[in-house]
Amino acid sequence: MDRRKMLKLTGTALAGSAVLGTDAFAGSSLNSNNIAGTPGKGKKAMIIGAHPDDPETGCGGTIMVLKKAGYEVVVVYMTRGEAGVPGWSHEQSSATRMKEAREACEVFGVRPIFLTQIDGSSEVNKERYAEMKEVIEKENPQIVFTHWPIDSHRDHRICSILTYDAWRQLKYGFDLYYYEVMSGVQSMIFHPTDWVDITEFADVKKKATYCHKCQNPEDWYDSSHGQMEIFRGMEHNCKRAEAFIHIRRTSSDIEE
Ligand SMILES: [Zn+2]
Repeated sequence: MDRRKMLKLTGTALAGSAVLGTDAFAGSSLNSNNIAGTPGKGKKAMIIGAHPDDPETGCGGTIMVLKKAGYEVVVVYMTRGEAGVPGWSHEQSSATRMKEAREACEVFGVRPIFLTQIDGSSEVNKERYAEMKEVIEKENPQIVFTHWPIDSHRDHRICSILTYDAWRQLKYGFDLYYYEVMSGVQSMIFHPTDWVDITEFADVKKKATYCHKCQNPEDWYDSSHGQMEIFRGMEHNCKRAEAFIHIRRTSSDIEE
């Protein structure tokens, strides 16, 4: 079998499995065909990240696909990037990183929300569970995206489990998707269930990420997220894609 034939087959098989998921679980499965075909007018999506630049790199293209479908999108930053620039004070770093995050959100045309955890020192306790639950409950989104929990960064892991807990506490009242960041370096063993074709918006995603000047994106964007988009695109039979893991409640899920 030649390479082109094989690629075509692979794309068809995966597109097929994603469509299966869509049909089996009516609602807002993330298959990009479904998003494009399901107007999001009056619906809200929330992207939760541990630091400024996580929502942008993990979901930047999907943010634009959701907006095009009519969704309102809000971006939640769990910390303000206090420890994000070596040698800078927390005050200096968080001021710069919040400014850059706001600029990135302007590029997308979305609203940022900043929570109160501290970069590098985020916590899991009753108060932090409550903080995450409250922001989701207040905004009342239909779809929420957060970090995949198997990740080399503590803050990413914590952000993920706080969101997962809110999903349970709020009685599974929204669709929950995990996104990947710097797979192989940060996200680990990430095996997607859903793909979104972001080819049309790859430039917008890059522009928004490049607002984070203090993170020197020119040193890592193309070699990490750029490559990830191309690889996920190969899996989804398009030029560039973002990929997600959709978690669903099972009938045996234990209520606490
Ligand atoms: Zn991060």
